[in-house]
Amino acid sequence: TTTTKTPPSPSPLRFSKFFQSNMRILVTGGAGFIGSHLVDRLMENEKNEVIVADNYFTGSKDNLKKWIGHPRFELIRHDVTEPLLIEVDQIYHLACPASPIFYKYNPVKTIKTNVIGTLNMLGLAKRVGARILLTSTSEVYGDPLVHPQPESYWGNVNPIGVRSCYDEGKRVAETLMFDYHRQHGIEIRIARIFNTYGPRMNIDDGRVVSNFIAQALRGESLTVQSPGTQTRSFCYVSDLVDGLIRLMEGPNTGPINLGNPGEFTMIELAETVKELINPDVEIKMVENTPDDPKQRKPDITKAKELLGWEPKVKLRDGLPLMEENFRLRLGVDKKK
Ligand code: NAD
Ligand code: UDP
Ligand code: UDP
Repeated sequence: TTTTKTPPSPSPLRFSKFFQSNMRILVTGGAGFIGSHLVDRLMENEKNEVIVADNYFTGSKDNLKKWIGHPRFELIRHDVTEPLLIEVDQIYHLACPASPIFYKYNPVKTIKTNVIGTLNMLGLAKRVGARILLTSTSEVYGDPLVHPQPESYWGNVNPIGVRSCYDEGKRVAETLMFDYHRQHGIEIRIARIFNTYGPRMNIDDGRVVSNFIAQALRGESLTVQSPGTQTRSFCYVSDLVDGLIRLMEGPNTGPINLGNPGEFTMIELAETVKELINPDVEIKMVENTPDDPKQRKPDITKAKELLGWEPKVKLRDGLPLMEENFRLRLGVDKKK
């Protein structure tokens, strides 16, 4: 891990221009699932001003409704593939659809968002002297041949597959981050996020946890994609947000894995959801999609050592919190 020495503080440029000690923080993709939880946490600190830039492709204003109108908050309808001229001290760059059905819907746009979007945010960071954090993904490891995955693993990625717009897009985004760091001295942070779940996930976005919970609540069969023995590790969103903020505030560039090392097969996940939420539903096997990684589990040694971070919320404790949110949104009451 490369390190930079400067502690977090307003960028010198903006500090001298406006002389104020507030941190002005841009969150791209802040109307999305992870972004809106990050905004909630950043807004708790009265020294932070938060600006969200989002094109609402997969996010919504509803996720931020409690902040709209707040004096320290601004929401801009903006597509990161276009240049953005504002003055900020830190950039959390999340803008990018994260669910396979959305990122495959317009793959060229997904590539543009990852490449041109990240280039623009780096250009902005360079112009104003801001520190920038990229939310990369465990998908950079592809269908991994090393298990669990440490940051030093270079991955096993198909460059021409249907997922490539996302995973190769994020790989280029990481490359751009390091090139701006080496060439222009930009302060960068890269998080490689593993599967994350929690309230406000899109209900029908095809991701496994949201699918299973919505299916269980609607009394539909839980659709396990074959073979069902593929594994994932699920991190609750509050833990993830805590990791992102620690990474941004600390001295390490990363890349650093952020995820929960608890590993489950999709059959185990379906059985757990069934047991906790609706024992009456069936589990059925359906066809899988191409290039689905067979196993995935983060090696979080670095996050523990460098950020003093590890997830606290277990799957069995996080699922009910998400269930509550999905019940409200789907209008399904708990059986007495
Ligand atoms: P999300 O789809 O809920 O949020 C993404 C947000 O970005 C949405 O609000 C969307 O409208 C916005 N957006 C998309 N394209 C944009 C563009 N061109 N310009 C401006 N805004 C745009 O997804 P999420 O789960 O909150 O993911 C956030 C970030 O975390 C993404 O970068 C994703 O790749 C990364 N990530 C997420 C996971 C996960 O499990 N959720 C795992 C690994 C990495
Ligand atoms: N950019 C931006 N906001 C800024 C500064 C730059 O969106 O405040 C964009 C700019 O339009 C360019 C990209 O970031 O497309 C890269 O900028 P950089 O200055 O690094 O490169 P150049 O403009 O010299 O190609
Ligand atoms: N999956 C499943 N049933 C579903 C949706 C997904 O069994 O209804 C499986 C999918 O095949 C994959 C895992 O769950 O092995 C995680 O898929 P998801 O799309 O949530 O995330 P990613 O593939 O990006 O890790």
